[in-house]
Amino acid sequence: MGPWLILWQNLMKLPNLPLRHPDETLYSLVARTRLMNGTQSDWETCAALFGPTPVRRIADIPVNFTYFCEATDGVYGSRAALVRDATAIPFFRSLGRLARDDSPNGGQRCQPQPPRNKDVQKPCGLAIISHGGIHNWRFCPACREEEISAHGVPYWHRQHQLPATLKCAKHGRNLVEGHPPKSTRDGRLWLPDAPTLVAQPVAVENEKGLTQSTILIRLAQLSGSVLVAPSWSSSAGRVITTIRHALGTRGLLTAAGRIRRDDFLLEVRRWFGPLARVPPFATLLGTTNLEQLVQALSYTRPIRTCSEILMLIDWLFGSWDTFLFHRDWQEVMETGTIGANAPAGCATVGHRNRRRQPEQTFDAARQAHRNTCVAFCRGQADASRTQFGRAHPKSYQWLRRNDAEWLNMQFPARVPQPRQEQLFVER
Ligand SMILES: [Zn+2]
Repeated sequence: MGPWLILWQNLMKLPNLPLRHPDETLYSLVARTRLMNGTQSDWETCAALFGPTPVRRIADIPVNFTYFCEATDGVYGSRAALVRDATAIPFFRSLGRLARDDSPNGGQRCQPQPPRNKDVQKPCGLAIISHGGIHNWRFCPACREEEISAHGVPYWHRQHQLPATLKCAKHGRNLVEGHPPKSTRDGRLWLPDAPTLVAQPVAVENEKGLTQSTILIRLAQLSGSVLVAPSWSSSAGRVITTIRHALGTRGLLTAAGRIRRDDFLLEVRRWFGPLARVPPFATLLGTTNLEQLVQALSYTRPIRTCSEILMLIDWLFGSWDTFLFHRDWQEVMETGTIGANAPAGCATVGHRNRRRQPEQTFDAARQAHRNTCVAFCRGQADASRTQFGRAHPKSYQWLRRNDAEWLNMQFPARVPQPRQEQLFVER
């Protein structure tokens, strides 16, 4: 840290730091810090915690974890602990939904970095990194009452902000969506008790209320498990192949590995029927969306939203732990530790052992070329497809011809730097 930054840090030192509550988001912690140090403005509080920045919109303030740890004398733990405990990153990474983070070697490309000068506005904004979205955050009225009576001030919970979470897993109450008035929301820090906060319930109970409620609580608990799971790293491709495998064992894949559309739709609608009129699920269960989902699953393409992934996991595996078990088993099968001849596309089981010899040779070659690629990417976080092609032309050509889908996931098409709203692929 340069002398100017040290001087700045000393000038901006915040005298009071609040205790962090369980499951509290980083944004919420910053908002309460601002409350405890009443004389400063919202922007000054952010600048004191994350370093000087030209960004004035509070939601977009770049999160510099290194600076934050120094400014708070490490009272909230290390940078890794903060990412794990106070941000939405573990959730999105577990589902393979962090933008530019589809590599199997653990998403090193999208680790939150201290902002560099040229992209100071770009990396990870405070609201996105904390809540996964810029506006319309959710809170549980029962949690809020408890917090007001215990601490005087409520706070934002990470679990309440997760996709497909419309109920509080602790109280079973419908969450309420709160957003500040449009005219003022960009320049302020908000907590769920702000008098001007516009609040509205997110889920409407219908006549099948009890069943609906059970499913919503189950989904909320599933989201919570994904968030706090100790191992958080999945590639988008791995998530889909695991889901496809489970569909295969239920007889919902054809011999060619496509989805049996009619049976699949019937099952999904039977399982999630009670959610058909609850706003976000109504769209997801609509014909257009389900057709897209069938296509994605048939051709191992990325699934559009986190909510759809969660619904599939809830239906096919029941819990996140069971999903992880199947995912890891799948990985072992593919990397050859137990059975080297398992096809990656997870065709039906009866299909697996046909033409064993050519498959074995093909799988061994594919694994060798994939390993070359993974090893290459591990050495350089921002490696490009061209660089890989120059360094390992044989592996590159082989993968391009025979394993293009996997290769594309390692080197996603270059797109303009994602806007703050798009840091996570889809909430
Ligand atoms: Zn609650």
